[in-house]
Amino acid sequence: MVYSMRTAIYPGSFDPITNGHLDVLHRATKLFDRVIVAVAKNESKHPLFTIEERVQMVGHAVRHLPSVEADSFDGLLVAYVERRSAQAVVRGLRAVSDFEFEFQMALMNRKLNERIETIFMMPKDTYTFLSSRIVKEMAQLGGDVSSFVPAHVRTALAAKFSPNPA
Ligand code: ADP
Repeated sequence: MVYSMRTAIYPGSFDPITNGHLDVLHRATKLFDRVIVAVAKNESKHPLFTIEERVQMVGHAVRHLPSVEADSFDGLLVAYVERRSAQAVVRGLRAVSDFEFEFQMALMNRKLNERIETIFMMPKDTYTFLSSRIVKEMAQLGGDVSSFVPAHVRTALAAKFSPNPA
């Protein structure tokens, strides 16, 4: 039997990557030979970090995971999935509030390409309240985000919100 490598794409804004994202990512690495974290440009969302900064922060956070790669993409997700010869899209589901949007996206992507499956993964319960938006708000107000993001992300947030940027 010929074994083909199973690849998943984990897409998102990752503005910035949090421990919740990393929890989902660890779970995905158990199911797939290769997982590509694909940072969406999403200029319309007015991200705090540039695309280069977001990819760099993901790359640093996954450097100890040999089957994980950090990349960026623009445009249609299904086109990117095909380009990378992947079979599946991984998304995280935190609460019912995530469901409606995710359901719509998954079905739309299936309409565009029936060969691609969307897999939903639930994070550890302590991360269900965590989002990049909350982390940014806390950091801006001077709150301690060290239990929510890796150390290098905390440093990057502090630099963004520093009153005297370098
Ligand atoms: P997007 O703008 O595409 O929603 P995000 O970076 O906010 O990008 O999220 C990317 C994916 O990670 C989404 O599927 C989102 O539901 C999931 N996610 C975000 N935060 C968490 C978390 N704390 N636990 C589990 N999944 C999460």
